[in-house]
Amino acid sequence: MEIRHWIGGRAHDGPVERWGDVFDPATGRREAQVAFATPELVDHAVKVATEAAAGWRNASLSVRTRVMFAFRELVEKRKQDIARILTREHGKVLSDAMGEVQRGLEVVEFACGIAQLQKGEFSENVSSDVDSYSIRQPLGVVAGITPFNFPAMVPMWMYPIALACGNAFLLKPSEKDPSAANLSAELLREAGLPDGVFNVVHGDKVAVDAILNHPGIAAVSFVGSTPIARHVYETGTRAGKRVQALGGAKNHMVVLPDADLDLAADSAVGAGYGSSGQRCMAISVVVAVGDVADRLLPRIRERLRKLKVAPGLEPGADMGPLVTREHQQRVLSYVDKGVAEGAKLLEDGRGHGIPGDGFFLGPCLFDHVRPEMAIYRDEIFGPVLGVVRVASYEEALALVNANPWANGVAIFTNDGGAARRFQNEVQVGMVGINVPIPVPMAYYSFGGWKASLFGDSHAYGREAVHFYTRGKVVTARWPDPKHRGVNLGFPQMK
Ligand code: NAD
Repeated sequence: MEIRHWIGGRAHDGPVERWGDVFDPATGRREAQVAFATPELVDHAVKVATEAAAGWRNASLSVRTRVMFAFRELVEKRKQDIARILTREHGKVLSDAMGEVQRGLEVVEFACGIAQLQKGEFSENVSSDVDSYSIRQPLGVVAGITPFNFPAMVPMWMYPIALACGNAFLLKPSEKDPSAANLSAELLREAGLPDGVFNVVHGDKVAVDAILNHPGIAAVSFVGSTPIARHVYETGTRAGKRVQALGGAKNHMVVLPDADLDLAADSAVGAGYGSSGQRCMAISVVVAVGDVADRLLPRIRERLRKLKVAPGLEPGADMGPLVTREHQQRVLSYVDKGVAEGAKLLEDGRGHGIPGDGFFLGPCLFDHVRPEMAIYRDEIFGPVLGVVRVASYEEALALVNANPWANGVAIFTNDGGAARRFQNEVQVGMVGINVPIPVPMAYYSFGGWKASLFGDSHAYGREAVHFYTRGKVVTARWPDPKHRGVNLGFPQMK
């Protein structure tokens, strides 16, 4: 099968110089090839988008809202189909894929309220016969560059709001699981979006760099790993663009001795191993305070032994494979490093016993992890959870705050005062209190701090409306005939 770019409302059938392989991670088989864009192809897509943007920016709020509502209905109807595509190319289990689509859909629902969201302000009589008002206008053509781990949801953090604001959009999805992007394009077209307003270019660094340097693109939203986020931010802003670049993560879950340990164990397993640990909000470090580790770990282990590791389409599967063989080998190398560095491997997922060539790794659990170890320092992005033991709340807080990443964090406790102190003192962008994956709802905004975010604008929610529009303030005089007359002074408000 061939996966093509989507430009001007249809699959692009021009010549393709380079192709990438798309695998089914559960079997290890190559299932498709995806076209890789050249700078010329990106330029063509931008031209098409620019032309379409000129009309779309003047589409009424009612028309834009109607397209979003219709798109919402179509995604709802095709949820299963989208989820199956995600499972086939990413590997995550079907129930998780359905959850991903649902979380993306919530942003589409938010974008349906664009008439309220894009309102300006109005001040009557700032001077005699003079009114002043602000409006927010679309930027033109904007681009989104997205990671493999949420091939439907992360693009939906971006394009529904960008489109609803009146922009044209160019999506460069991950080359590892590119098909969901094309289905979204088809559904947007079916929802009534004019051709050329939403386009998909596939590819790798060549496509990304062409986007970052293209003068016809006004803004770039990026989600992915920290080194690439930094590259995207630096290159894009140097080229004069507005850029928001969300990076990688190493999320901690602090468990105080008074926590509800069954809740904490359920949460650690769900957030540590869901999607095989390939979530930017996955918990990868449990910070066990005081004596809590000895009571918590047996509960975590008991739950891990019940997890069913299997192909994502198999009924009852809890955890699917990793996305590629290279990634599986990289995660495996961290398990080896952890053992070599002296952490205690309590559960060893290397013996998962699944036949075939799928990219599986079972759940791995390390105790006695120390901050200087590679399994603590690096983002592993796999089903590997580490436990760091600390003596006090203060030590836990210092550990979290010293980490260069600051995407999400959670605290588990029954002490409201301790939780409140933590939310105040912790230097992380998204905080969960007895909630392991505190992904904000669509009407807040998503973003970390420090090396987890380059730029100052978070994804979706109100911050996205701001990001995808620019402000204009109008000062208007409509004089009452009685007030006419020449005034040679510097304009003053009277
Ligand atoms: P990645 O950084 O490898 O790729 C992201 C995008 O950048 C892809 O579209 C890819 O094609 C492109 N890309 C890759 N290498 C490039 C290069 N050298 N130059 C230019 N572009 C390049 O990330 P990934 O492996 O697809 O996704 C996993 C990473 O994303 C993890 O680090 C995870 O934490 C992070 N992530 C962060 C968030 C967040 O909200 N902060 C959300 C999801 C994923």
